Amino acid sequence: MDYSENNDLSLYIHVPFCASKCLYCDFLSFSDKNAYFEDYKKAVINEIKSFTNKQKYKVNTIFIGGGTPSLMSENFICDILECIYNNFHITNNAEITIETNPVTVDKKKANCFKKAGINRVSIGLQAWQNHILKIIGRIHTRDQFLECFNIMRNAGFDNINIDIMFSLPKQSENDWEETVENILVLEPEHVSAYSLIIEEKTPFYKLYEENKLDVVSDDIDRNMYEFVKKKLKENGYIHYEISNFAKNGFECRHNIVYWKRKEYAGFGLGAHSFINGKRYSNTINIDEYIKFNYIAETEKIGLRDSYAEFMFLGLRMIEGIERKSFKNEFGIDIDNVYKNEIEKNIKNGLLTDKNGVIKLTNKGIDLSNVVFAEFL
Ligand code: SF4
Repeated sequence: MDYSENNDLSLYIHVPFCASKCLYCDFLSFSDKNAYFEDYKKAVINEIKSFTNKQKYKVNTIFIGGGTPSLMSENFICDILECIYNNFHITNNAEITIETNPVTVDKKKANCFKKAGINRVSIGLQAWQNHILKIIGRIHTRDQFLECFNIMRNAGFDNINIDIMFSLPKQSENDWEETVENILVLEPEHVSAYSLIIEEKTPFYKLYEENKLDVVSDDIDRNMYEFVKKKLKENGYIHYEISNFAKNGFECRHNIVYWKRKEYAGFGLGAHSFINGKRYSNTINIDEYIKFNYIAETEKIGLRDSYAEFMFLGLRMIEGIERKSFKNEFGIDIDNVYKNEIEKNIKNGLLTDKNGVIKLTNKGIDLSNVVFAEFL
């Protein structure tokens, strides 16, 4: 690989193991491959070591995602982090996140994560009601989530995200309001609120095709989204990305790297890297991966695709895109590429273009996929 001279880099580690598969999930993860844990760890460590020109970079964010990284032993996570620390220069205030699920973390594990330098945790709750958790295939109850949250706070984590979902089967507007209101009592620093997407190849998709899934109407979906936006705003959260809300200063720096098309290196099964205008995709075959056959595909992103990525990733941020940042990035005025598309979306009430900033309107956020498609 050839790497750029750019100093800033973010790292992503993919841990593709879960205790059991949630019925809506199409992430690359397995619930039947515990026998791979040790070989997988070795392969990740080897992949990190074999990354060339490591000394060129300073790492500002690390994200350990999955899957369920917190399912793994303390040693699994700490050995990988130690390898990163030994091989990369990590900045003093780096944001280091781990994704966790209730029932996979105890006090000892949480303390170890903290000691290993992890300073941000993301906890998957999804819904407050036990009957809904059951319907979507989560393995925990609300009380187990609360226990997990308290364990994390007591271990000293002062930057916690809670993931919640709306438009779930059998979820009423009251259920959703109860979910939002109850997590607010806990005062997390960050909330991610996603609308259910019924992905192909999931058990939910099969049920949907058979007309057996209780799908929420578009109107109720929008009411739920409006509710969470309003409630979080009233409670001092900044709505900084379509699905993400944070207390001031707690925006997820790692995800902002993706939305702003900055450079990152991904390690692990199916992980992607974006370095020097090229995208590297790792194999999704775990048997190949543990034999150290990592990269499946390298793609030089063409100019046209880079423009499009810049638009549809950047517009996810509520602050929008600065005209001058497009020019800085590509040396060309945004109107030379997207004048018609921008004008059309403004006319349709989906974008605004004021003071050198182009951003989605409220209606544009609701129809963001329509807007993004225009730039592809
Ligand atoms: S825990 Fe997360 S990654 Fe694992 S199956 Fe559920 S949603 Fe998917």
